[in-house]
Amino acid sequence: MFWTEFGPNLNQIRSFLEVRFFPTNYTAGDSDVDVLLHSGHKCSWRRAEMLRLVQEMNQMEHTITCYCGICTLNLVDDKATCHFQCGCHSCRQKIQFGEIKGGRKTTPLPELFLMPSRLHEAVGIEHMKAYKLREDASSTQVYCTKCWAILGVDHTGYHNKIFLNFPEFCNNTGDLSLPLVAYIWMEDYNDSIGPAPTEDVPLFESTRYEQEDKRAFSIPEIANTFAEPDAPIKGYTFRSVVESLEEPTILGVQEQDNIFEIF
Ligand SMILES: [Zn+2]
Ligand SMILES: [Zn+2]
Repeated sequence: MFWTEFGPNLNQIRSFLEVRFFPTNYTAGDSDVDVLLHSGHKCSWRRAEMLRLVQEMNQMEHTITCYCGICTLNLVDDKATCHFQCGCHSCRQKIQFGEIKGGRKTTPLPELFLMPSRLHEAVGIEHMKAYKLREDASSTQVYCTKCWAILGVDHTGYHNKIFLNFPEFCNNTGDLSLPLVAYIWMEDYNDSIGPAPTEDVPLFESTRYEQEDKRAFSIPEIANTFAEPDAPIKGYTFRSVVESLEEPTILGVQEQDNIFEIF
């Protein structure tokens, strides 16, 4: 039996657990633990249920960190919902900009994972900086200004529900077990950029035409990931981080530009 301070309901207990102040040195069993609520009242909680919550809490320690470790995004839900390899100019340019500033060397067909956007916290915001490729770009990418890892990308079409992450260009300890869903935007890719794609998965040149768009969105992972949420996403998200930073710096890079010749 032990005593601690909790909020009066499960959600508050969960949020308390999520900030990792909960002791973990007890074992499973059916006996009750007494819990002291903020209100001053006491209640009992099933020990097994407590353990389950603590285990859930421990599993929640999934983060996206930069290479140098000064910037961290602490994920609420760490399971990636979609996994692409993208041939588009914009992805390469975002990564190449990091490379130019001192980050990792670009790969021809980067891996993209769409992550649920809610965060427990973001650490090192003072070292994060937001950029856009051009004024009218829909995407905003956030880098660590010490090591130039890319922490994530927000897009106006993400509904604050998801954000994009390149696990090859940061450290992502989330659940990235989802196999490759598709190659996308392959109209921007060719033999001069890199080798031909190897996986036997759907491949989309673009989603410019209705037929291709429909085919893409007939894939459940794509449809579910990009569907507008039923209700606005509440709480602290990747977009909250972007909004807390200074206005994005506009790089003034056009689609066909060789970014290495500009910076
Ligand atoms: Zn860093
Ligand atoms: Zn792309």
